[in-house]
Amino acid sequence: MVSPTFVIIGAGLAGAKAAEALRKKGFDGQLILLGDEHHRPYERPPLSKDILTGKAERESAFVHPQSWYADHDVDLRLGTQVAGVDRAAHEVVLGDGSRVGYAKLLLATGAEPRALPGAQGTLQLRRFGDTERLRQVLESGSRLAVVGAGWIGLEVAAAARQAGLEVTVLEALELPLLPALGPEAARVFADLHTAHGVDLRLGVKVAEASATHVKLADGTRLDADAVLVGIGAVPNTALAEAAGLLVDNGIRVDAHLRTSDPDIFAAGDVANADHPFLRHPIRVEHWANALKQPAVAAAGMLGTDEVYDELPYFYTDQYDLGMEYLGHNEGYDRVVFRGDVEAREFIAFWLKDGKVVAGMNVNVWDVTDPIKALIRSGTTVDVDRLADPSVPLPEAGTDRTGTPA
Ligand SMILES: Cc1cc2nc3c(=O)[nH]c(=O)nc-3n(C[C@H](O)[C@H](O)[C@H](O)COP(=O)(O)OP(=O)(O)OC[C@H]3O[C@@H](n4cnc5c(N)ncnc54)[C@H](O)[C@@H]3O)c2cc1C
Repeated sequence: MVSPTFVIIGAGLAGAKAAEALRKKGFDGQLILLGDEHHRPYERPPLSKDILTGKAERESAFVHPQSWYADHDVDLRLGTQVAGVDRAAHEVVLGDGSRVGYAKLLLATGAEPRALPGAQGTLQLRRFGDTERLRQVLESGSRLAVVGAGWIGLEVAAAARQAGLEVTVLEALELPLLPALGPEAARVFADLHTAHGVDLRLGVKVAEASATHVKLADGTRLDADAVLVGIGAVPNTALAEAAGLLVDNGIRVDAHLRTSDPDIFAAGDVANADHPFLRHPIRVEHWANALKQPAVAAAGMLGTDEVYDELPYFYTDQYDLGMEYLGHNEGYDRVVFRGDVEAREFIAFWLKDGKVVAGMNVNVWDVTDPIKALIRSGTTVDVDRLADPSVPLPEAGTDRTGTPA
């Protein structure tokens, strides 16, 4: 019997990890990994951190060594734009019109930075080339304007301040990271950046942006050596939409990461997946998700369905603040802090109906497992014990007798 061909579209972290998982799970058919970038798959978090600041080289970001692809018989085709998916023919259509047949297909097309309408000549940050451009600004410029106080905007602001630039961050909402953290914890990041000399302008509307200036809706003009736009990302769903797959805030997949076509799967930033623990679909634009989802998609492609129900996990590094976030705080009704918020050494817990739904450790380490256990336990917590650093975290979800509160 001829071995089937599996095709992966998108040579980012999720695409590379899917190829790895397929080989690990014993797939011995032809495996083709198609990517429109000219670099082999790499991880993006260092682009706004150590590669940007010059502490790390590009080489450190690659998912696999160059030799890995040949060693594992992965046909990596870079600089290859996929133009369409012909589901009826089970073929992928490439930009040059040629076709590649597939038995199973994985869409790992990721996301792209959201564009600021009307902006021209501004910088964005998603690819190696973007980091190079921004790094030149950090090396030779003196003023940077950042539109958007999300994760990427704030990480770049921190890198630029550390490089000695004057930095202005412009944010439409009342606090940075407000949608992700809510007001209680978002304040920590506002204070952090203000303390490091960032001119943080909140609740402002950008009316116009170019390579060297930003104009606000109230007429204020800011000149800079460069303007970075970091206002979120949009999933690359065009191929899926054109192919008639179900798309709704990303490519809709079930908990096995299977799309509305049983032979097509999706993983990483582009996938909006049913989540058995959260009990609603979720699209996660974070590194850990792109790292771990592919193994589940690979299992499904091989006909041995697994379920993806990892809690969303995210990390950031800004100045001397390191943080990890776990869970999903949507609809929370209370935030409990444990530790010293002023000193930025604490854990924040988001609670809903008395249960922990998310946790964020700031400059406190090795607590991911107990936070995960608290969330997964679904028990009502004793808030006083949760807030008390002298109570070991694994016991914080119970009363003094060890009974769930
Ligand atoms: C600057 C930056 C910093 C980040 N920092 C953090 C962090 O600190 N912590 C964290 O948890 N997460 C972070 N992230 C998020 C994390 O990097 C992403 O979640 C992860 O890269 C998603 O991987 P992916 O493979 O799903 O998508 P991507 O990395 O976007 O890869 C998708 C690939 O598919 C290609 N592609 C798309 N369409 C086509 C097509 N039609 N034909 C061929 N190829 C195509 C794209 O060009 C791209 O190469 C950061 C992201 C960025 C940009």
